[in-house]
Amino acid sequence: MSTAATAARPGHDQQGDRTDAERVDAAMRSFVREFGVTAAAHMEACVRCGMCAEACHFYVATGEAKYTPAYKLKPFRRAYWREASAFAPVIRALGLVRKLDVDELQRWQELIYDSCTMCGRCTMVCPMGIDIAELVKEARHGMFAAGLIPERLALMDRTAQQWGSPATPAEDLPDILADVGQEHGVEIPCDLPQADILVTAAPAELTEHTKALADCAKILNRLGVKWTMHREGFDASNIGFNNGDMALQERLTRALVDTAVKIGAHTVLLPECGHAYGAARWEAAKWYGRELPVRIVHMTEFLAEQIGAGRIRLEPVDATATFHDPCQIVRRGGLEAAARQVLAALGFRLIELEDHGVHGYCCGGGGGVVSNQRAAPLRHKVFEIKRRQVEATGAEHFVTSCGQCRITLEMGAKHVHWDKRTESLLELVAERLA
Ligand code: SF4
Ligand code: SF4
Repeated sequence: MSTAATAARPGHDQQGDRTDAERVDAAMRSFVREFGVTAAAHMEACVRCGMCAEACHFYVATGEAKYTPAYKLKPFRRAYWREASAFAPVIRALGLVRKLDVDELQRWQELIYDSCTMCGRCTMVCPMGIDIAELVKEARHGMFAAGLIPERLALMDRTAQQWGSPATPAEDLPDILADVGQEHGVEIPCDLPQADILVTAAPAELTEHTKALADCAKILNRLGVKWTMHREGFDASNIGFNNGDMALQERLTRALVDTAVKIGAHTVLLPECGHAYGAARWEAAKWYGRELPVRIVHMTEFLAEQIGAGRIRLEPVDATATFHDPCQIVRRGGLEAAARQVLAALGFRLIELEDHGVHGYCCGGGGGVVSNQRAAPLRHKVFEIKRRQVEATGAEHFVTSCGQCRITLEMGAKHVHWDKRTESLLELVAERLA
């Protein structure tokens, strides 16, 4: 067997110097680790009914069979039958299922990174209860272990390994917050030794979309709560979660929780970001092995609670709005009502999209797809689903509660010269404080 590293195939990315055999072995070892009882049951349960196809925006937007959710799991299923199923020794001995090779893993990269946002819409409709989004997440662990992920995501991974953030080194945080505070005339505390709420940011809010930090500060200062951002735990990045690098994700999320504990905070406030919510709110307890020592709250949930308790009062608008439900917050996270409570408090007459709430279509950019430039043409096709549904409502405002969805939707709008702005729920609240 050759021990020389093998070059990447055209159109596919790979990381590190390894032979094809080493990559395949690394992927298989990870897949086999993932095939616990639940994953195994899911692997065996598919009845090929095809119902998941119409749930997936990538299939709906293109009509291409390779984008059906069940098809996306095919290599994972083959690995299961050959390496981990009850009949694996017989299957291998008789050669009933061929071993995956590196070319197949390379081709698979496009299906589970470029054309799956782990949105869970397929999961919701599967009559066999197969959690396809979760299986894609587990498959990504093996692809990461094999060094077979899109290079744009790998670059962010390496940066986050070094900085603790894919966007900003921790040492820059005080200067960023001082600049944003000055620009927007608001005080943003940093590194307080004691606070009740630790506020975190999405990577994009530390670079191009810093106004979200000022909006958050405006609201928290008005509430009069004791809060801070902190260099030791500031970036609610989901880059490890998206890439399949769970060791990195654990490190990033632990930094938030441990910093909150250190400064005596009872709450970690997550930014308007969907996958950050999934990674911190739902994955973190696994790493601690017990109930988390702090409460982890998404921005929308926090706003709804404060409004509900009468602590935030708003100047109502007199307009119609429609709302894009971020998959990780609503379908996967269970926060369907919170955004609607905030919209109602803002005075909007809500006109729902044809598919909304837990049934809403994904923006097309989750799961790292928005950062993966080579997926842009596919993402733009997906955007058309949302644009058609928004236009059909005739609503004056188009609002969402996830910064990544907003970026994805604004990129889609720019691509087709659509003049509808995607507005942030947080920004609207900050602007309408009474
Ligand atoms: S999780 Fe979402 S993007 Fe992925 S296959 Fe299912 S519906 Fe498609
Ligand atoms: S909906 Fe479920 S059972 Fe039907 S093809 Fe898709 S994964 Fe298989």
